[in-house]
Amino acid sequence: MAAAGAFSIGLTGGIGSGKTTIAGLFAQRGATIVDTDAIARGLTQPGGAAIDAIRAEFGPEAIDASGAMNRERMREQVFADQLLKKRLEGILHPLIRLQCERAASAATGDYVIFDVPLLVETPHWRERVTRILVVDCPEELQLRRVMARSGMSEAQVKAIIAAQTTRAQRLSVADDVIVNDGDVASLAAEVDRLHALYCRLAAAADGK
Ligand code: ATP
Repeated sequence: MAAAGAFSIGLTGGIGSGKTTIAGLFAQRGATIVDTDAIARGLTQPGGAAIDAIRAEFGPEAIDASGAMNRERMREQVFADQLLKKRLEGILHPLIRLQCERAASAATGDYVIFDVPLLVETPHWRERVTRILVVDCPEELQLRRVMARSGMSEAQVKAIIAAQTTRAQRLSVADDVIVNDGDVASLAAEVDRLHALYCRLAAAADGK
């Protein structure tokens, strides 16, 4: 079955809401997942497709001894300078899109799910996908899960949540919602239901 067809899902949600967990459940059922964050990270790792352009634009000090982008240095610089941030994004964003499209065209699952943490904030992604699936969960659970996973303090996680789009904004653009406020086992029925729907819609979009 080809996944590269016209139909695709954009999966999004706040930090620690459960996107990766839920993407894994869809993958088990036959969807192909394109992880946009993993693709973005790969671009700035040693040998990554953005490294030469970053060196040319920002100088050799933008690249560390391992050949990766010097993340800390660039983070500080783009934090202080909007123009610099735009220049870095000007290199990264087209490459992210290109590699995501390549991954989607190589997909062999029933349909493609793009996992995009900042989908609601990014017009390109909102237009690119056929349907938006939002993983929603109470802030209290996001806090608990991210603190357990990363060792970050409550204040650090709260600051990240505050900088992201709000739950209400995310829900306002959702075609489908999975509420991830129980245990992982309790997600199966909802994932089954949506997977069946997505298979039907993908087949219809491909004219089958
Ligand atoms: P991020 O935005 O930070 O990448 P995410 O939205 O992809 O996060 P996950 O990585 O899937 O979220 O989940 C965050 C943490 O919470 C993980 O450690 C995961 O195992 C755990 N988790 C997710 N859903 C549940 C659940 N229903 N019950 C218990 N733990 C969960």
